[in-house]
Amino acid sequence: MPEARDLPKIRVSMPHVGLDTAQRLVAALDMRWLGMGPLVKEFEDRIAAFLGAGDRKVVCTNTGTAAIHLGLLAAGVGPGDEVITPSFNFVADHQAIRMTGADVVLCDVRENDLGIDCEKAESLISERTKAIVPLHFAGIPCDQAGVYRLARRHGLRVVEDACHGFGSRVDRRRIGAYGDVACFSFDPVKVVTAVDGGCVVVNSDDELERLRRLRLLGIDRDTLSRYKGTRAWEYDVGGQGFRYHLTDIAASVGISQIEQAEAFIASRQLVCARYSAAFKRLDGLRLLREDFDDVSPYIYSLRVRGGRRGDLVEHLKARNVETGVHFVGAHTFSWFRDARRDDLSVTDRVCQEVLTLPLHSHMREDFVQRVIEGVTSFFD
Ligand SMILES: *Cc1c(COP(=O)(O)O)cnc(C)c1O
Repeated sequence: MPEARDLPKIRVSMPHVGLDTAQRLVAALDMRWLGMGPLVKEFEDRIAAFLGAGDRKVVCTNTGTAAIHLGLLAAGVGPGDEVITPSFNFVADHQAIRMTGADVVLCDVRENDLGIDCEKAESLISERTKAIVPLHFAGIPCDQAGVYRLARRHGLRVVEDACHGFGSRVDRRRIGAYGDVACFSFDPVKVVTAVDGGCVVVNSDDELERLRRLRLLGIDRDTLSRYKGTRAWEYDVGGQGFRYHLTDIAASVGISQIEQAEAFIASRQLVCARYSAAFKRLDGLRLLREDFDDVSPYIYSLRVRGGRRGDLVEHLKARNVETGVHFVGAHTFSWFRDARRDDLSVTDRVCQEVLTLPLHSHMREDFVQRVIEGVTSFFD
């Protein structure tokens, strides 16, 4: 028997990239059009088809952070506005809100799904509030209906951070297939990766055109020719823009991944269900979910009670099992010290307790067993 610490390291996340991805990538390089071109258009079409987005429009960006920034701009967020989002969220969102010139307002989350608390969000609404940015944490849908009710009542836009939920369903429909603005990430550790990338999903042609200009330095009338792999000589620049477009090289990886997305998600659902079945008898833990049928699990997170998170992390580390923490609350960062907020008591508690265990697409069986054995042996 090898010592536990000599067993191969189990990383928190590991992309599934095989020969098919390598072949797509080489074929893309062979086209000698490395920038934004026909493969970006194909990736956008495949994303729309995967989501079942119907008439909604998909615009790819070079990162998920860029997608959120542009999603906010498309929703009309700008200087002087306020945007409400959970403090329990990735700092990309808080930074993207500030990039628009708007102020971040930090909201608490609910105990059950760690999604935005709509009652507390309502009490944070002011005359300056323009939008709400809810997060579907770990792929588990937040109180989406509650968020849209709140937005309708107060005339606010909703920019969903769906970076954790590519493929998750609410009432049988995939997140992003309906609603206001939805943003996804295809960064190296997301369920579907394009090495780096992201996309925004919107409803109108106006927003689509606006997003296309914003992502390419404000350049007008150029996208269609680029999609065909040609360049237009004449164009106008009518406003602020950013260098946020995706490359065909990244899109080639994204295409190879999205073809396997259903299988990735199914394999992750099985592992999550096995984790929850194995851990639900452990008093020292609080699980987020047991049933993952509608969830596209990005990470498997749970809460460790009784101040024992650090000890569990060490116990797993000795078995060469890596863990992660999603998230550190944004209200604890010096950069967001001045951000308006109200009661964040659930967030404070959750940030002390939450722990992420390894989860991969097509995860090795011996890895799954080692994670389960590592956690249960700590409590037994
Ligand atoms: C990954 C992620 C982002 C940002 O995406 P990038 O592609 O890494 O820029 C934003 N929000 C959440 C919740 C994320 O997990």
